[in-house]
Amino acid sequence: MSTLTELDLATTSITTLVSDCEELIRDTSMPSVRTWKERTGGIAIGFMPTYIPRELLHAQGVLPVGIMGAGDIEIIRGDAYYQSYICHIPRSTVELGLNGSLDCLDGMVFPAICDVIRNLSGMWKMMFADKLVHYLDLPQDFSAEIGGTFYRHDLELLSQKLVDAGARPLEAEALRASIRAYNENSRAVRALYDLRRREPWRVPTAELYVALRAGLVLPVESHTALLERFSALVQAQTDRVPVDQARVILTGSFCEQPPLGLIKTLERSGCYIVDDDFVQVSRWFRGDISETGDPLDALVGAFLNDAPACPTRYIDDGEKGRELVDRVGACGAEGVLFCAPSFCDPALLDQPMDTAAVTRAGIPWTAFKYSEDTGQFQVIREQAGTFADSIKLWSGT
Ligand code: SF4
Repeated sequence: MSTLTELDLATTSITTLVSDCEELIRDTSMPSVRTWKERTGGIAIGFMPTYIPRELLHAQGVLPVGIMGAGDIEIIRGDAYYQSYICHIPRSTVELGLNGSLDCLDGMVFPAICDVIRNLSGMWKMMFADKLVHYLDLPQDFSAEIGGTFYRHDLELLSQKLVDAGARPLEAEALRASIRAYNENSRAVRALYDLRRREPWRVPTAELYVALRAGLVLPVESHTALLERFSALVQAQTDRVPVDQARVILTGSFCEQPPLGLIKTLERSGCYIVDDDFVQVSRWFRGDISETGDPLDALVGAFLNDAPACPTRYIDDGEKGRELVDRVGACGAEGVLFCAPSFCDPALLDQPMDTAAVTRAGIPWTAFKYSEDTGQFQVIREQAGTFADSIKLWSGT
């Protein structure tokens, strides 16, 4: 693999590009972040799933670094911080913090998505008292007057904390430019999702997944270039032809990310994954953030009005599960795989409402759970394979 921060974008091999991305996300010592810091002299701030305003950090010269779990690293001390009936991601994050992997980060932002993350932010303050720790209190009221005012204030607070940690002050023109950079990135992501929806055999989800996750540790400009290269390479593959697989949406894995082996297993079991909620931060907005007017207001407005349904967002009017049903129609899926991390309260509390909505709409579904360090997939393979077969045999398509 090329030495980072940039991957070898001149490669003509999709295999090389994908394996470089895979190596990048497996290396918990974060070489790309360390190289970026040496090159730029800037600070790097980690963030937990699912969403933080990366544009704001970027505008202040900060590298946002997504921490969405550490896969199957050996947990030695992380288990001591949490009871056993809790998801895996906080343990692996504590482990990364204590084993020095996150030393290159100058701080962490914890978005308000669940009690586990809230508790983790408090622990982080005690464990790493010399670093920036910010609990991003995301509003659950989506009116401009209440939620908007609250969120804008929180962004201003975060911005000031970044300055205190060594970042440059926020300027409107810089924020506008950062919004443009992230809009370009989102468009590249959306284009790949559109391509996969149309021709899933061209864009295996296991490959798309590692390309997306590479964006968690790369500067946004590099990641956009990577996605464009990835898109050109997958479209140039002549040996990828459609086979008779069931088109499914995979939902529930918006926070702790599934092991790569699980995604490969689902694809091998006879499923084309045509939509998902992996690495949610890269698709947090349905469309572009406005590039005109006050840029901080634009960030706030996008959060209030343009974010997709997610278990960590309260729906005050409308019906839980409605958007999922709509997504099934939009991507031509034949079934839904509910695939959530074990002990994930937000995902598993939503699931009965989602399954009820999907059932009412006559859409087949099945459900299973995983942990980021799951290593045995045989049972899931049999379940997903049987589900795919039943769709192909009895759905009448
Ligand atoms: S996996 Fe679920 S419960 Fe665990 S930190 Fe993420 S949102 Fe919270």
